[in-house]
Amino acid sequence: MMRKYFTYVLLCGFPLLGAQTKVDEQSAYQQKWTLLERENAAMAFDANIQLSDAELALDKKLFQVRRKFLSEAEQQKIPIYNSSFNQIKPLIENSPLFKVFQTMPKGGLLHTHSGGLASMKWVISAARKYKECYVFVQKDTKEFIYGQLAFFETGKVPQGFVSLDKKLSAQPDFEKELLGLLTLKRDNLSSYNNYWIEFEKRFTRINLLLPYRPFFKEYYKEGFQELLDDKVQHVEIRYVFDELYDFKHGKYSLETTVTDLQDIVKEIRKSDPQFSLKLIYSSFKFLDPESIEKQLEIAFTLKKKFPDMISGFDLVADEAAGHSINSFQKNWTKLKELSGKYGVQMPLFLHAGESTSVFNKNVLDISLLDNKRIGHGLNLIYFPKSMEMVKSQNKLVEVSPISNQVLGYVSDMRNHPARVMLSNGIQCSINSDDPSVYGYEGLSYDFWTAFVYWELDVKALKKLVFNSINYSSLNEKEKEKALNHLNTQWNDFIQKANSNLK
Ligand SMILES: [Zn+2]
Repeated sequence: MMRKYFTYVLLCGFPLLGAQTKVDEQSAYQQKWTLLERENAAMAFDANIQLSDAELALDKKLFQVRRKFLSEAEQQKIPIYNSSFNQIKPLIENSPLFKVFQTMPKGGLLHTHSGGLASMKWVISAARKYKECYVFVQKDTKEFIYGQLAFFETGKVPQGFVSLDKKLSAQPDFEKELLGLLTLKRDNLSSYNNYWIEFEKRFTRINLLLPYRPFFKEYYKEGFQELLDDKVQHVEIRYVFDELYDFKHGKYSLETTVTDLQDIVKEIRKSDPQFSLKLIYSSFKFLDPESIEKQLEIAFTLKKKFPDMISGFDLVADEAAGHSINSFQKNWTKLKELSGKYGVQMPLFLHAGESTSVFNKNVLDISLLDNKRIGHGLNLIYFPKSMEMVKSQNKLVEVSPISNQVLGYVSDMRNHPARVMLSNGIQCSINSDDPSVYGYEGLSYDFWTAFVYWELDVKALKKLVFNSINYSSLNEKEKEKALNHLNTQWNDFIQKANSNLK
């Protein structure tokens, strides 16, 4: 019996034991794999978000909606990874996902610019109503460029300008041409264009329009309304201050710009009490440190007078053409002294790393300065130590996906550097930068782009949306109110989106 048993063990038992070891080995491997997967997820920017059952249900549905969209695009052989935003804009607008994003509360828009807000179609139709509005229809001169808009008093119209309304009435196709001159499109991803030169021309064409006080008031009201319509409750503008004027009074002080904007916000709050606005005083990277010193004094003066409206300071313009952030060291070291003099803090909100080059080292300064949020930060991923510091200092990167593609920094949106930052735990928010110049309104297009190309889920969306309030310049009391509103809106959105999607 014993022998028989022994034989049995010999014949069958050992092979069995061997199989068992294989299973153990396999499961040990699998366990390690699962742990590694979990450890990777724990490093992501949205690791602390717990979804409710309703949010998880919506997540499953959105995953399917995106899958269906992508497989349909593939069936129709639409090259969505090699197309520009402009090329696939109609496809976005007709997609069921876009309808979902239009109803999603976005929280705040933390990165946009004065002059890039209200849609250019609206600009043309509103400007032509002023009989004192003119358009420059001759070849570029030193002073004016073709398609530039401006207001003039009768009898003081410079040569080359004609009445905008008369020109549009006499030549109806001019509206389309003018719209093309005011917006920038990256039509073909592979064709060459000097995007920054063209981009800046768009601003030049309206820079005489915006300081005209009656138009200025209309412009911002419209800009804010477009954002509210797209479920944006809070806006922070990189604001380049220019004295307002009208023909009766002449020029107004910079304070008038702020008080006029405050009045517009008050007006908007009658129907949308949650709406809030902050301004980031912005100057230019192509100026010298002496000019920036003067700009900082103006910024401090304004902030002292309007501490709840002016939140900080930034330097804008093409980083490849302008001076490095480092070259303004003297200005940054003087900030403390200025804070003492004026009795207010001036946090920085610098554009840094809007570049694909490792020779642009602007992101290095970010972790050395009191710089709460970073505009773009595209090349941050090439500076691992700085990336680590930005993460540990809990600074936020303001990402503007469509802007980055239009200006030529990213082509295939799947390869956007923000994906690397998000998975490495860098906090980000989604922004539109200059939507009117890129020919769209609101923030839904950017969220659509991020969701589709970066394979986001509801957890990531929720974190991005709430980051835009948590990292805003709102004070603690304002933030609490804004978060309450956003929470209610978010839960309402989850419920409605769940019942709209089968
Ligand atoms: Zn910007």
